[in-house]
Amino acid sequence: MLYHSTQDKSKSVSSAQAIAQGISKDGGLFVPESFPKLSLVDLDTMLSKSYQQRAKYIIGQFLTDFSQKEISDCVDNAYTVEKFGGDNPAPISTVTFNGDEVNLLELWHGPTCAFKDMALQILPHFLTKSLQKVGGGKDAVILVATSGDTGKAALEGFRDVDHTKIIVFYPVNGVSAMQKHQMNTQEGDNVYVCAINGNFDDAQTAVKKIFTDPETAAILDENGMMFSSANSINWGRLLPQIVYYISAYCDMVNLGKVKLGEKINITVPTGNFGNILAAYYAFEMGLPVNKFICASNSNNVLTDFINTGVYDKNREFYTTVSPSMDILVSSNLERLLFIMSGENDAETKGYMDALKSEGRYEVSATIKEKISAMFYGGFADEQTTEKTIHDLYAQEHYLCDTHTAVAVAVCDEYIKKTGDKTPVVIASTASPYKFSKAVLSAVDGGKLPESEFDMVEKLNELTGAPVPAPLASLRGKKSRFFDVTDKEGMQAVVLGALGIDK
Ligand SMILES: *Cc1c(COP(=O)(O)O)cnc(C)c1O
Repeated sequence: MLYHSTQDKSKSVSSAQAIAQGISKDGGLFVPESFPKLSLVDLDTMLSKSYQQRAKYIIGQFLTDFSQKEISDCVDNAYTVEKFGGDNPAPISTVTFNGDEVNLLELWHGPTCAFKDMALQILPHFLTKSLQKVGGGKDAVILVATSGDTGKAALEGFRDVDHTKIIVFYPVNGVSAMQKHQMNTQEGDNVYVCAINGNFDDAQTAVKKIFTDPETAAILDENGMMFSSANSINWGRLLPQIVYYISAYCDMVNLGKVKLGEKINITVPTGNFGNILAAYYAFEMGLPVNKFICASNSNNVLTDFINTGVYDKNREFYTTVSPSMDILVSSNLERLLFIMSGENDAETKGYMDALKSEGRYEVSATIKEKISAMFYGGFADEQTTEKTIHDLYAQEHYLCDTHTAVAVAVCDEYIKKTGDKTPVVIASTASPYKFSKAVLSAVDGGKLPESEFDMVEKLNELTGAPVPAPLASLRGKKSRFFDVTDKEGMQAVVLGALGIDK
């Protein structure tokens, strides 16, 4: 299996190269040249298997330059009971919301309490092995732009991993108090965290620029280093995410929610379009899916895109209670456009160039039709998000976080609007305790305690929902990182953190 760029199909690389490099030199994203197909027999075989066994099988289809033993090692080291609190790292909880049954795929039982752990606990293992194959003895410098959850999950995944250094940039006023505290208290000798004056899109754009700048690459090269990415532009992030949708389908069959071969709907709270794209890739492999429900918050650029075919980032940016979705440039949409254009690299590049120069593009009528056939786009504003947390708790005593609430709300709107009763899986993406302020005010509405950890405690007393140990243990922990930079200063910060004088 080889990989090529969404903006230039002419050259192909191995999976190790795609993972080590993160992004293609032409600025495009690496995609597999074809999708291995899962038959119903394959799915049937997986029904009786563990999550880890399913993961090994699926990952093995894509990383054909890795040995089975290498893949086994990666999976066994990533998805342990200690790290994910159970044999199944991604369990399903079924609830009834406003009269309709929905299945919440809980992806936040890992060490940093967000779904990013599902990929970032295994990516360092993929990367270490990839570097052995193609790294030429260089150390990898992982540059991360985060809207809150990727940063912490990447820091935790890469801390003290040999031959890697990790540098994380987050928007100074764009993450929750808990997210900030999680990152600033990060331990490890190879980690560095810095806030930026700007939003996530500013951070992501600047990181991509540093990343593809030949001059910076040359400086790193002289110092025995190379850049890599832990953002969802890296193929090694998306692949582990495909696994949990296929595994969830098997669990749905085992739970008696669907018969093997019957379709499901999948709802995903979406920001950078990585998580929902992974679900779509599972469908490309043969997973029986009827509709993908793409749920946005007030930054509803994707809702408009799905409904009109026009992607326009020239709009107001909102800071919301679901900060990990406060994004106007959804990087991974590029990979969907590539597929929907019939793998047309020139057309994909055209859209991306227009996005860069005009902040806007309009896709062809064919692409628009193909997308509306499979995707429903909707959004939940702040009030709806809070009401959903409140109502779900009132109806089911189930506490969900702000991002998951956006998905539950949009899914509910979809069911009520269309009458589509296809069994639905909703990606539940974070622990409610990462966003205690918003969640507590949604369920209680009374006066909020002042400190973050007093809010955590109050939410716990009120609801009885257990506080994840990795968050509870952060109380009173001292920060290690305090730096804030402007966008223009990020490159200097990177070189400084690496101990390179220029
Ligand atoms: C990152 C994140 C999202 C958005 O996922 P994308 O892959 O960026 O679309 C949603 N919810 C939470 C909690 C997240 O951390």
